[in-house]
Amino acid sequence: MSRKLITGNWKLNGSLAFNASLVEALRAGLSAPACSIAVCVPAPYLAQIGGLVQGSPIDLGAQDVSAHEAGAFTGEVSATMLREFGVRYAIVGHSERRQYHAETDAVVAEKARLALACGITPIVCVGETLGQREGNQTEEVVKRQLAAVIHANGHCISEIVVAYEPVWAIGTGRTATPAQAQQVHAVLRAQLKAATPQAARMQILYGGSMNAANAAELLGQPDIDGGLIGGASLKAADFLAIIAAASRLVA
Ligand code: PEP
Repeated sequence: MSRKLITGNWKLNGSLAFNASLVEALRAGLSAPACSIAVCVPAPYLAQIGGLVQGSPIDLGAQDVSAHEAGAFTGEVSATMLREFGVRYAIVGHSERRQYHAETDAVVAEKARLALACGITPIVCVGETLGQREGNQTEEVVKRQLAAVIHANGHCISEIVVAYEPVWAIGTGRTATPAQAQQVHAVLRAQLKAATPQAARMQILYGGSMNAANAAELLGQPDIDGGLIGGASLKAADFLAIIAAASRLVA
């Protein structure tokens, strides 16, 4: 079993004081973790967190990246700018961006392309709504979302991270069962296998109310290579417990 990747998504949370105490508590609680770790933070805090995580096993991540390189796009932050702040990962296509900012599959694919071009690993989120799950459309939806990114990124596709995040499980306290999650991860792995010979080593994360209590079982599934964690990443003890669960799973 390869190293897992545990990534926090802080969403629209934080302050200079809160960030400092959270990162301090994480650093104090991490002793040689056997998994990779990142925190995806609000853009204004990238410089602060970049400094706070320096010399630690925690990588810096952004929650979004512009689909444009430069120009008249007020409010946007480009991949080049993120790179200047030492960003290693950028979430693209989070369901909250798809829902509240009308991001299409094509926009998400372009964001992934621009991130890769700057040496940033895009964490490409895919996932179905409750209605789509109940309508037996889960496979069709996640495959369509991933296909757009595969199509736009050609041979670079092996450099992305995929996150399966069922929309009905995000921030709801309702988690996909390990079997439900594994089933979709296997579908995504097969789709990646058809696109690249590197698919077996690619990381497919699960996200959706992962917490200290359910992490070990979810992360123990054969095609679940890590977690994208929202709420629980804002509590040091919970995030550390998930990291510990992931670390125990390394062969
Ligand atoms: C997320 O925001 O990507 C997420 C999975 O949130 P939560 O863990 O709070 O469900």
